[in-house]
Amino acid sequence: MSATDSDRREANDPSMPESKNSGRSLNFIEQIIEEDMRTGKYQGRVHTRFPPEPNGYLHIGHAKSICLNFGLAAKYKGLCNLRFDDTNPCKEEMEYVDSIREDVRWLGFDWDDREYFASDYFEQLHDWAVQMIQAGQAFVCDLTPDQVRQYRGTLTEPGRNSPYRDRSVQENLDLFRRMRAGEFPDGSRTLRAKADMAHPNLNMRDPVMYRILHAHHHRTGDRWCIYPMYDFTHGQSDSIERITHSICTLEFENHRPLYDWYVDTLGIYHPQQIEFARLNLTYTVMSKRKLLELVQKKLVSGWDDPRLPTISGLRRRGYTPEAIRSFCDRIGVAKFNSTIDVTVLENSIREHLNATAPRVMAVLRPLRVVIVNYPEDQTEYMEAVNNPEDPQSGTREVPFSRVLYIEQDDFREDAPRKFFRLKPGGEVRLRYAYIIKCEEVVKDEQTGEITELRCTCDMETLGKQPEDRKVKGVIHWVSAAHAAEVEVRLYDRLFTKADPDDLAEGEDYKTYLNPDSLQILRGCAAEPGLAAAQPGERFQFERLGYFCVDSRDSRLGAPVFNRTVSLRDTWAKIEKSETDQ
Ligand code: ATP
Ligand code: MG
Repeated sequence: MSATDSDRREANDPSMPESKNSGRSLNFIEQIIEEDMRTGKYQGRVHTRFPPEPNGYLHIGHAKSICLNFGLAAKYKGLCNLRFDDTNPCKEEMEYVDSIREDVRWLGFDWDDREYFASDYFEQLHDWAVQMIQAGQAFVCDLTPDQVRQYRGTLTEPGRNSPYRDRSVQENLDLFRRMRAGEFPDGSRTLRAKADMAHPNLNMRDPVMYRILHAHHHRTGDRWCIYPMYDFTHGQSDSIERITHSICTLEFENHRPLYDWYVDTLGIYHPQQIEFARLNLTYTVMSKRKLLELVQKKLVSGWDDPRLPTISGLRRRGYTPEAIRSFCDRIGVAKFNSTIDVTVLENSIREHLNATAPRVMAVLRPLRVVIVNYPEDQTEYMEAVNNPEDPQSGTREVPFSRVLYIEQDDFREDAPRKFFRLKPGGEVRLRYAYIIKCEEVVKDEQTGEITELRCTCDMETLGKQPEDRKVKGVIHWVSAAHAAEVEVRLYDRLFTKADPDDLAEGEDYKTYLNPDSLQILRGCAAEPGLAAAQPGERFQFERLGYFCVDSRDSRLGAPVFNRTVSLRDTWAKIEKSETDQ
């Protein structure tokens, strides 16, 4: 997956609606839609929907579906509904409904007043079930779930008719009424379609339409003790909403004949289902069941843990809606399953933050530096550029004084020849300030640990490169007396295995959780302005990466910074070549 330069420019321009004007060729769904518009199939209408089940928080895979459905509606001047497919009362909650609304809105999409719930259609679905019973197209079946499975047959063997298949219409109507009235226990009976027990597609072998479930539903309360199956709900919900293009992931391809059969049998409006490949990302899991397990077992801090691929996790981590939309645009839609390297997602946020995030200096692991020839009581204010990529962003003043912090990593006692940062007797430039020279290394007598560097500073070198010597390295620093003390959280991949779903027999995906996926650094030193950083604010810490103020754990004057992503720039390369010496 490689992005073109024009993609990059676009992703850098936050004002650009990136999913529209990429100038790329049409994807296969756009081709279908344009053909339908040409032939007038839906009178030129385009009406899509995003249909989450409210049984978990949305993840980046859902973002692909959201961008696709809302994006197509916008592109073809159509509409896109938000519909909660809430047919399973046991796993669904209002908390999920609320989080889904928030995430879709945050991604930048609007469904106006077109918010629907499959549960709002329960009465209509029930009436359609009765209609099918009356037409001899459905029957009440007393087989247990196990027996139903046994009767179903296999891919190579046809199934057998249920012994209850020939019940009279009257008996079926009566039993179905009593199912609804709550006369029978859970699982004792089902309503099934009379389709075709010999059909090569197993979904067509007299599928269950209704099951008995004495369960409280987050919206309909205790009104129902029979619930329609997802397969008896989804297609009809699309039909009720007069969806034109019902876009779903590939695993529903072999459900399409059943959805088609239901709407045709009922004689109702027929939307067209189109399947596309779901998004898979390396080093993470995307199944809601697994995400829920990680949350419930407290292996992560919650649905919005910054290590999770959830929208709320990515938001807390510092991702922007623009970056996620540009990622979804870049990966495109296809008909075959594939896995996208997580670096493609990381590049999308880098590009956006490179253009928009102000740069500041912070030292994650401070090493004290005393400039011995600098006056004790002096403070100078150095002019620092806020973002060279954005001339509008201007400059700021950063205090400089006798005692500074630099990064422990930026000093090496036994430095290789090409180590261009600080070493005993060596020189380095302090960003926006002077060239300093390391004169003495002070150590703790007991532990031998380096506690302080004593340096001299060349006062002639402010903003000037001396002609008599070459100083290659530039390092960041913070004035100790002015520093804001902050907490920083560094994240690594949540899993150590590129595909944690690809397991050998008996293996558990959780064994591949990365024990070092979170590193908390306390006592980091940041330039003073950062003490007032607000939750959600994003910065580039020079040379260290992009950081976002945590929206959950930050306190007034004590921000916690999440590293969104490290920098991919020349620093990474220089440092690599230095360590390779
Ligand atoms: P899970 O199987 O983990 O529960 P799901 O696909 O059932 O996830 P839904 O809430 O039903 O989750 O999904 C809502 C919509 O988002 C569906 O149209 C689904 O096809 C789409 N979707 C879900 N996961 C992905 C993914 N990884 N990539 C693209 N689209 C996805
Ligand atoms: Mg689903």
